[in-house]
Amino acid sequence: MALRLSRSIVGEAEARAVSRVLLEDGYLGMGNEVRLFEEELSAFLGISAQRIIAVNTGTAALHLAVEALAPRGGGEVLAPSLTFVASFQAIAAAGCTPVACDCLPETGTLDLKDAEKRLSSKTFAVMPVDYASNPWQLDEVYDFATRKGLRVVEDAAHAFGCLSRGRKIGSFGDLVCFSFDGIKNITSGEGGCVVSFDAEVARRISDARLLGVEGDAQKRFAGARSWDPDVTRQGWRYHMSNIMAALGRVQLARLETEFIPARRALAARYREQLAGVADIAFLRTDPADFIVPHILPVRVLRRRKDAVKNALAEKGIPTGMHYKPNHLLTYFGGGAACLPATEQLYSELLTLPLHPGLSVQDVDNVCVAVQLALTS
Ligand SMILES: *Cc1c(COP(=O)(O)O)cnc(C)c1O
Repeated sequence: MALRLSRSIVGEAEARAVSRVLLEDGYLGMGNEVRLFEEELSAFLGISAQRIIAVNTGTAALHLAVEALAPRGGGEVLAPSLTFVASFQAIAAAGCTPVACDCLPETGTLDLKDAEKRLSSKTFAVMPVDYASNPWQLDEVYDFATRKGLRVVEDAAHAFGCLSRGRKIGSFGDLVCFSFDGIKNITSGEGGCVVSFDAEVARRISDARLLGVEGDAQKRFAGARSWDPDVTRQGWRYHMSNIMAALGRVQLARLETEFIPARRALAARYREQLAGVADIAFLRTDPADFIVPHILPVRVLRRRKDAVKNALAEKGIPTGMHYKPNHLLTYFGGGAACLPATEQLYSELLTLPLHPGLSVQDVDNVCVAVQLALTS
């Protein structure tokens, strides 16, 4: 089978769970499976199920989180430019302005010094992104937010299963958003969730995912509906379905036994095999953090990136680019901002194949091809 950059790892168990919903339960919308998925996610994170709101994409999670915090008339959210466009679109969808910040050259994560320079009277939140599953300096982000009176919406789409200095991402903080799209550390087909440590905000988001119908989620979990509801705010059709939740539950059960060890072992193999290869540099991580890598971007130095990318492509090895910085996108300023570290990293970053379906031999083959490309 051709080598893939990333892919879902689903099989018989996921198929059985989905067919149980289709053939036995017959209720495909948001019901008992979603309630169980939220409970199992909360057990995994070690938090109350009241704090978890399952939704239909990670982007919806970010949108609802920002929207729940935004002042009337909108405001500004500081976010690293080096992220999936979902982060920026989610902020914009909430009627707010994403303010693109520079990143740290060695990690690709938010540069707090640069973020501080971009504070304004309209800034109400900061959105750190665990780039390549790296929760770099998360405590410092929270300290910064406390000092400046900001809320925090973590874009933890890459970081499900990771730990920051011994604590699971999503087990502490303010608002934390996960994605369960097809290629993330676990998938529910598409999907995501918000974790909110603010009970009032959690309630608002829980209603907002179901068109703003007050208390509808709790009724659906009890197998009922609200026939005489009130709606006091804007809401969206962002809830998760039983089909998705059934799939996600199986994936969650496989995370610690299969996906975490596989992803970590393959990433460690890349580091071993490419250690000391001139012009390849790995992003820096904190040994106090536990990383479950969703993607494997490396830096290719001295302008050799295209040479490596093309040599791999010739051998049928796909590579990726995570991400074209958002400040270079037309809708988000078209390069008006100047973010030197981000632009430098953008010229260097090349994502190598990583998913639990790869073998150690696959990784070794990629590494040999990288080395050959750099020595020829
Ligand atoms: C995947 C991802 C998202 C969005 O999640 P979806 O579930 O695909 O909507 C947001 N931010 C980052 C950094 C992502 O990688």
